[in-house]
Amino acid sequence: MDAIEEIRSEIRHCTVCAGHLPHPPRPVVQIGAPARIMIVGQAPGSKVHESGVPWNDQSGDRLRDWTGLGKPTFYDPEQIALMPMGFCYPGAANGADLPPRPECAPLWHARVLALLPDIQLTLLVGIHAQDYYLRKTAKATMTETVRGFTAYGPALFPLPHPSWRSTGWMRRNPWFETEVLPALRDQVRAALGFPRINPRIPP
Ligand code: SF4
Repeated sequence: MDAIEEIRSEIRHCTVCAGHLPHPPRPVVQIGAPARIMIVGQAPGSKVHESGVPWNDQSGDRLRDWTGLGKPTFYDPEQIALMPMGFCYPGAANGADLPPRPECAPLWHARVLALLPDIQLTLLVGIHAQDYYLRKTAKATMTETVRGFTAYGPALFPLPHPSWRSTGWMRRNPWFETEVLPALRDQVRAALGFPRINPRIPP
């Protein structure tokens, strides 16, 4: 068994926060040693928990649209790693999913990243990933952090969570579609080894 298979197996059997979860743990991650893009999300929703397939919901459809990634590439662990802040569905309250379990990222992320040496670009999707990875360099609001995305490049790229709420947020912040998404697609292409479409976007 190689190191990636070993850690996959360890993650699959993790029960560290089982007492806080609404169902038995079902970690949902996708990792492969040669992956070039890491997508750090929030935590699986109930639909993803049931299927065991990461981003297999409308949020995933929106994220694929934002990044320009088709499903075959998105679900290829040799190209894309998918690692949420909490690997298991945390449950819901008052009609909204609970935040990712705080035990998860400190337990697993550094160990997983140490096994993926070719990551060129990490997408920080949502406030939890940004708080964890940007720490003091994050701005006062998620909107300001995303608008200032060039400050974190070329290795990190902050994004809003692509939930249904992002539709209204995009209407209120049209610069996201005109400025951020073209740069995002460009950086995704570059990280995967394709030519950039828009050479004016800063690397
Ligand atoms: S959320 Fe993370 S730490 Fe908790 S049981 Fe699942 S894999 Fe383990």
